[in-house]
Amino acid sequence: MTQVRVRIAPSPTGPLHLGTARTALFNFLFARHVGGTFIFRLEDTDQARSTEAFELDILEGMHWLGLTWDEGPGIGDEPERGAYGPYRQMQRTDRYAAAARRLLDEDKAYYCYCTPDELDAERKRQEAAHQPTRYNGRCAHLTAAERAAFEAEGRKPVVRFRIPPGRTIAFDDIVRGHVEIDSDALGGDLVILRSDGTPLYHFTVAVDDAAMAISHVIRGEDHLSNTPKHILLFEAMGAPIPLFAHLPLILNPDRTKMSKRKSQTAVADYRAQGFIPEAFVNYLALLGWSTGTEEEILSIEELAERFDLATVNRAGAIFDRNRLEWLNGQWIRRLEPSDLIDRLRPFLQSLADADRIDRLPSDDEIRALLPVVQERLPTLASVELIDFLFVRELTVDPGLLVPKRWDAATTLGALSIARDTIAEVGRVSWEAEEIEPPLRELVTDRGWKAGDLFMAVRVAITGKTATPPLFDVMVALGYERTLERLDKAVGMLEALTEPVENVSPAARTIRQEG
Ligand code: GLU
Repeated sequence: MTQVRVRIAPSPTGPLHLGTARTALFNFLFARHVGGTFIFRLEDTDQARSTEAFELDILEGMHWLGLTWDEGPGIGDEPERGAYGPYRQMQRTDRYAAAARRLLDEDKAYYCYCTPDELDAERKRQEAAHQPTRYNGRCAHLTAAERAAFEAEGRKPVVRFRIPPGRTIAFDDIVRGHVEIDSDALGGDLVILRSDGTPLYHFTVAVDDAAMAISHVIRGEDHLSNTPKHILLFEAMGAPIPLFAHLPLILNPDRTKMSKRKSQTAVADYRAQGFIPEAFVNYLALLGWSTGTEEEILSIEELAERFDLATVNRAGAIFDRNRLEWLNGQWIRRLEPSDLIDRLRPFLQSLADADRIDRLPSDDEIRALLPVVQERLPTLASVELIDFLFVRELTVDPGLLVPKRWDAATTLGALSIARDTIAEVGRVSWEAEEIEPPLRELVTDRGWKAGDLFMAVRVAITGKTATPPLFDVMVALGYERTLERLDKAVGMLEALTEPVENVSPAARTIRQEG
């Protein structure tokens, strides 16, 4: 068997896209599974749209995901590594020129002098006649004299590769099975060099895949229709034809194609929202592939151990953010406390930067909270769940304070008694197991529903309707601050239950609804 060499070949014309990340991952897993080489090549020939910032975003995203490559740019401190470089296409332009030269010399390619206007007119004619649009081959067999005449007019030619007519190009795709495409459906002879000498995508891919001895081309299904062109180019260059595996598209839940306009596709955005790479990689691996067992939570090493290209699905893979969040939560639970604390820091810092908290908690404070918080974090950003612990002045929406089944007066009465009960227990001990029983007793005595009282207390001390367990929250908040916040809520309810003429319009609405 030939040495396995696979590649990811992103164009730095946008930030790292999750589809590219998934393709990179499948290449990586395949290479690691079989002990092959994973190559990173930057396809930066679209100079108008390529930027250094996008390049950095892609490199950083790949590093963040842990998709280490064996050859390519940005390995360790080296600008690039590998015996097949350079790995940036803009540094390989002499190679494309030489390859084009050879094709011209062997008459597998020719100079085409048609102007954009002429091509446009021809396309319109074909459209009007309901014919497939394709290059009509006008320059395919020019005589030396005809060429000289065009040159004399000052026309600058492009180079076109001859697409043989009437051929069936067939290949066995590892994912899709046998594929056949008619060469007449490829749009006619293919431009490989523009009139300024810059190479085009299909050509650079084929030249580089050949030069870099790529054994398997694993890429998105959107490239399936390009593959026959690449096969013809490989043949013309006398290069071995790699095996192909076209991965299913990633779809929105409504089965439309995921596009950057409609969906969140930038890997960096998921990172910023508090997804962790272990989970993100785990999730991406399951977009179009599964182990065939019940196993779902797998590290990148475990994925590599199990990965098999032959079991990749053909059908589109639906991106399900809820499942990603679930997996992320599972992975967050598995983190060591100190590791999790390190990862939470930047998110706490952003809460501080946004004035959502007044101070940053210490490591010890966070560590003490982890037993009740760690299993409740779908993302690192959801650490905002406990922001109320680190604010001096809590803002409470009075509308949330009054439970659905209660009115303001009932809530006021209940909270006042609860406050005194809590004050009483707290004088002796401030443990969750101590605070809970007297409050439950109170609920039973009064014939209330525990949920109603606890919701009122929860909102009073946290401002939120969903928090970690209430009694743990009280302990974390401390005796004094818990009472302070209950007092403040009682004051707020008192204002709400004053005679109508003294009450603000907002409070009146709440009273009516209650
Ligand atoms: N630069 C191409 C892309 O980003 C690579 C396609 C390929 O893998 O052949 O889509």
